[in-house]
Amino acid sequence: MESMDGRPVVLRGGTVLPMDEGRQVLPRTDVLVAGDRIAAVGPDLQAPEDAVEIDASDGIVMPGMIDTHRHMWQTAMRGYGADWTLTQYFVWYYLEHGKLFRPEDVHAGNLLAALEAVDAGVTTVVDWSHGLQTVDHADAAVDALQSAPGRYVLAYGNIQQPPAAWTGTPEFRDFVRRRITGDDLLGFQLAFDVLGDPAFPERPAFEVARDLGAPVTTHAGVWGATGDDGIRLMHEHGFMTPETVYVHAASLSADSYHRIAATGGSISVSTESEQSAGQGYPPTWAIRAHGIPVSLSMDTSVWWSGDLFSAMRATLGADRSRQHLEAHARGDTVTHCSLRADQVVEWATRGGARALGRDDLGVIAAGKKADLVLIKNEASPVSFPLLNPYGHVAFQAQRGDVHTVLVNGRVVKHEHRLVGVDLAAARRAADRTIEYLRSTMGEEAWQKGMNPDIPETTILDNPYTYTDYHSASTHTAG
Ligand SMILES: [Zn+2]
Repeated sequence: MESMDGRPVVLRGGTVLPMDEGRQVLPRTDVLVAGDRIAAVGPDLQAPEDAVEIDASDGIVMPGMIDTHRHMWQTAMRGYGADWTLTQYFVWYYLEHGKLFRPEDVHAGNLLAALEAVDAGVTTVVDWSHGLQTVDHADAAVDALQSAPGRYVLAYGNIQQPPAAWTGTPEFRDFVRRRITGDDLLGFQLAFDVLGDPAFPERPAFEVARDLGAPVTTHAGVWGATGDDGIRLMHEHGFMTPETVYVHAASLSADSYHRIAATGGSISVSTESEQSAGQGYPPTWAIRAHGIPVSLSMDTSVWWSGDLFSAMRATLGADRSRQHLEAHARGDTVTHCSLRADQVVEWATRGGARALGRDDLGVIAAGKKADLVLIKNEASPVSFPLLNPYGHVAFQAQRGDVHTVLVNGRVVKHEHRLVGVDLAAARRAADRTIEYLRSTMGEEAWQKGMNPDIPETTILDNPYTYTDYHSASTHTAG
């Protein structure tokens, strides 16, 4: 295929979800991209002669999806923790083996996570990078992000030290000066948790964030780890801002939700994570009563996919499930679902953009950044009929249906293949990390980490079990 780089692109005749306020659906509509931006949206657009023409008919064109919380550095361990709880995760990553990660292991994870994201139509990822034990690790993380297609926000963190310690070093300041240079494809946040110590030892880290103009992202409302005390301390000390992103927020009181709503922050909901790790119930059903903006996230590929189709699906399921359960507890029946498919598509796109303060992302309109996804799969019986495009995205589509992806006006995936990506090199790097960790941990620890003990299940005594089949049947026969 001839090079598409630098040429205008026109997506022809798709069903366009512009994610505007009215949640319109635009049938048979073209999207013209010039440079890094969307030039026009409409039917039968005139395109420059050198434009790359992409047939979007029978497909859905939507903004690139945005994940506001993913620990990309962990991705070389894909699937390893499928049966973990949060406790097992903490032991593995925070107390034991996470400390073994070298800069090249962070690089391998970040690279693989980046490719995985773009392949699934996730054009922006917040790399919640709390494995940065040294600045060399941080350099490796950024090197990987900048070598891959996609838009990223490095959320700098270091779980091995208190936030006041690592944010206070000259090396950290120097790193920010060297690497965070205003590149539109690389944003910056500080990532740390507030544990609720009344002395508020996180204060200096918040001050560094304020000084750098960097938003803070924090795991808040994680059962057994962070809760209302942390939120109250942040609020009382004046560190809750509209840019603050509260991750999970799954075990907080109404008082904390009021404080988040009043200060304009947003919540990053990782439904699949909350459901199986145990941070608390995925909170969308509760926070809609507080009017808090929501974005979606996948947390880590150690358990789950890096795929926001799963996030949308799981979030609809968890929210509706809770709505039904709450009603049943009152003896009521839910006749109308409160959470709609178009709402989760909004959270996966524009919601993420809002959380990042980017009104030029997450929407399809002239002048906005050209981060776009075409969902189209002619070989799939699931691709038609296309009656309800939002419902189709949320419940029918999956990553294999991502046909074309543009980031910043550049085609980075086309006809179901990543463009200009050396997947074999990413695989080799992940293999090297696995080999190193496995040999360092030892085979027994490796196997034990992947296969946590299963609690014993007691089978209840069943009063309806026949003890004597013959007499029971005789009895029934009268
Ligand atoms: Zn997390």
